Formats: sequence, C-alpha cells, structure tokens
Amino acid sequence: MIRFDAITIFPDIFKSYIGESLIARAIAKKLIKINVHDLRKWGKGPHKQVDDRPFGGGLGMVMQVEPIFKALKKIRPINPSMGLRKKAKSKIILFTPRGKKFTQKIAYKLSKLDQIIFICGRYEGVDERVAKNIADMEVSIGDYDLMGGELPAMILIETISRLIPGVLGKPQLLKERVSKSGGFLEYAQYTRPEVYKVRKVHKAESWRVPKVLLSGDHKKIDKWKKAHSKVIE
Ligand code: SAM
Repeated sequence: MIRFDAITIFPDIFKSYIGESLIARAIAKKLIKINVHDLRKWGKGPHKQVDDRPFGGGLGMVMQVEPIFKALKKIRPINPSMGLRKKAKSKIILFTPRGKKFTQKIAYKLSKLDQIIFICGRYEGVDERVAKNIADMEVSIGDYDLMGGELPAMILIETISRLIPGVLGKPQLLKERVSKSGGFLEYAQYTRPEVYKVRKVHKAESWRVPKVLLSGDHKKIDKWKKAHSKVIE
C-alpha cells in the first residue's frame, strides 16, 4: 500500500478523480490511499489566510510557510495517529515549474515509498523557505506554467499508482513493460477491424493492421513490437 497526501487550497479538484476508474478501484482494493488536506484548516484568522504579499514587491500573493509547516506536522509518518509505521519511507514533494522534470524513472523510484506528500502551490508560488527547509524534492511536470499543483499531483498519483502491482489488474504487464532502470516500454498497438475503409474527398483508403500481427507467429510479433517500441524514461 502506498499512501498519497495532497495539501491544497482546492481539495474538491481531486474528488471526481479519486472516485473514478482504476484509481477508485485501487483505493477499494487497498493498494493505494489518497488523503486530500485542505490547507485552510491551518490558515490564520476568520478567513483562514494562507497567503500574503511578497517581500521586495511583485505581482500576486505568495503561500506562507507557517500553514504548510503545521499541515506537515500533522500528516507526516511520525504521527502514529495516521496509521503509518514509524520507519515508513516518506518524501515531501513541492510542485514548481523550476523543479526537477518528472519522468517515468522518477515515478519508478517513488513507487517504492510508503508515503508521498504533495504540496500543491497556487497564486504566484510558495515561500522559498518551504523548498529550502521542508521539501525533499521540487518537481516540475514540464516547461510551462500552470495555475496550481493539483494537476501535477494527480499526474504523479496516476503514474506511480500504475506501477503498484495489482493496480492495472495484469501483474505480468509490469514484468514485461518495466525495464531494469524503471523505464516503461511503449509500442504501437492495433485492434479490430483488420481493415478500416474510409472515403476521403477524392479517394477511398484502406487502413490495414500490419500482417505480422495477424500471423500468430509470436517470435515475429515480438520482433515487430521491439522494432516499433520506445522505452519511456
Ligand atoms: N513562480 C511560481 C514557482 O516558481 O513555483 C509558479 C507559480 S504557478 C502560477 C502556481 C503553482 O502551480 C506553483 O506554485 C506550482 O505548485 C504549480 N505549477 C505551475 N506550473 C507547474 C509545473 N510545470 N510543474 C509543477 N507545478 C507547477
């Protein structure tokens, strides 16, 4: 069982994601657990403030260190009320476009942990002291700027969960497709019909499945798959 904890000011964004498809099934089968924590619970004053203006000036607001620190004190594995072993292997990930680019290899390494805590930024970002003193890793999902860390958290949850035996329902899939270094083997695939006939403006076309895949010759099929595959790392 791997446990994900997401700290966010928009917990509802996760609701339908957690309640659908293979993720919902993995939760029901107790292969993964997802806890979403509303950061405002640790906010200050009647408005449960979690952000403030940046020192030195600048556009927009910055998320404060204090509510994040308080949230983590509650949800880290050392807290026995959270039901995790004292020696649980846990990492705190802060999402930022300045972070280390997320890859399949990183997903593989993270899938060996007991708990992963995500800090989902919003506004103009998060007080740098969180990156310096609290987070174990700063992660980016790509070279573009999003509005928040909630989509990155769901992307990591999904990529990592797929690597947990049983989540995809076919254990041999992981054996066949995950390389020693943690890369994932992807190849071209086809399904019925064998021939799909289309009429374009001036001509008819037939889109055919490669003959080798219909041959039943597994050696040749494996060779074809290798030639049309790529290891995603
Ligand atoms: N200047 C901020 C920074 O350097 O983190 C970016 C602010 S962005 C508008 C708001 C939040 O969205 C960030 O704090 C981060 O959590 C998340 N975010 C935006 N783009 C991201 C990306 N490419 N990868 C991961 N998280 C991202």
